[in-house]
Amino acid sequence: MKNIPFTEKQIRDFVKDHPTPFYVYDEDGIRHSARKLIDSFSWNSSFKEFFAVKATPNPSILTILKEEGCGADCSSFPELLLAERVGIRGEDIMFTSNDTPAEEFRKASELGAIINLDDLSHLDYLEKEVGLPELISFRYNPGSLTGNVIIGTPKEAKFGITKEQLLEAYRIAKEKGVKRFGLHTMIASNELNPQHFINTAEMIFDIALELKEKIGIKVEFINLGGGFGIPYKPEQEELDLSVVSEGVQKLYEKMDMAPIRLFFESGRYITGPHGYLISRVRHIKNTYKKYIGLDASMADLMRPGMYGAYHHITVLGKEKMPYDVTCDVTGSLCENNDKFAVDRKLPEINTGDIVIIYDVGAHGHSMGFNYNGKLRSSEFLLGSNGKMKIIRRAETINDYFATLNF
Ligand SMILES: *Cc1c(COP(=O)(O)O)cnc(C)c1O
Repeated sequence: MKNIPFTEKQIRDFVKDHPTPFYVYDEDGIRHSARKLIDSFSWNSSFKEFFAVKATPNPSILTILKEEGCGADCSSFPELLLAERVGIRGEDIMFTSNDTPAEEFRKASELGAIINLDDLSHLDYLEKEVGLPELISFRYNPGSLTGNVIIGTPKEAKFGITKEQLLEAYRIAKEKGVKRFGLHTMIASNELNPQHFINTAEMIFDIALELKEKIGIKVEFINLGGGFGIPYKPEQEELDLSVVSEGVQKLYEKMDMAPIRLFFESGRYITGPHGYLISRVRHIKNTYKKYIGLDASMADLMRPGMYGAYHHITVLGKEKMPYDVTCDVTGSLCENNDKFAVDRKLPEINTGDIVIIYDVGAHGHSMGFNYNGKLRSSEFLLGSNGKMKIIRRAETINDYFATLNF
């Protein structure tokens, strides 16, 4: 069983005057996860978590995370603006982008963000278009370590550069007068095995040592990226951050990394488990299979359609009933991938039932799109005070038509 931070009655009352579908985020849960991550690494003086804005790009959420001491990891102009608007500034912003346009580098530079380059060629581009900052980091792609299904194996991933390119990049940056350096890598996503992060740390610590030895630079920080997984399936266990932290600390001490700062750019771990998509059953259809048609669609939550990702689903008030009906849970797009679940066992379900889709707090609403003219849903925050607050209205037809000429 997965827990929900609200009662059945609260949701039943709420849907009376708030149309489904909508997202609800749990403020207490988000604060708790942010604290847990930051506390886990408190042995590293000036450790920093840069929340990956793309996971939940909402100013109310970013403000909560800023209060918890997080910076922002951005990779586009709007994400930089979001960070700026909630008052995250300077080196509390990490700009980890790829295939980046000049105006985004310019904005990052204006904000004094840490610029993390995805290729050696971006160094010249940045110099020509914007000018080089005092601090630069590069994203390393080790090529051979195993990745996972979302990000792919490192060799197949478009991100980062090879070892030879990396050494060359720092050598050239140093020649060009860059004074301060950081180092970045991220090679998996939604990973639940603590050993993965320990192995990654060892690999990147080695690189830092090599940079010192061969190029004569000392990196100020090592950014281990995002990728902490969450248990989407009820039978999965949480990632034990204390195991990650202890393993990384041992290596850090053994390999004499001090005083290098460690950074993460976690998104999913912090907000993922604390978002819920509330939807209603619109139609039930029996053909070769049983289809439960919701009023939410892939436009609201793309992960199942895009990655075959599992999201747990319950029917409000029927949590304790037997899960003996096998069905596909669908949206209304003219696209057969528009399914929240395939061959899922659910309780006996009726039209009008309220369905809760779990763990949508990261890469959920933000990945939504407008295919088929579908409009994205609203977002609510269940505050620490127990009150629901709207933090993004639903899109309207006018939003959809705003970009069109007739
Ligand atoms: C998406 C992304 C993250 C966040 O990943 P999570 O799976 O949410 O932890 C961090 N850094 C970069 C560069 C990313 O692209």
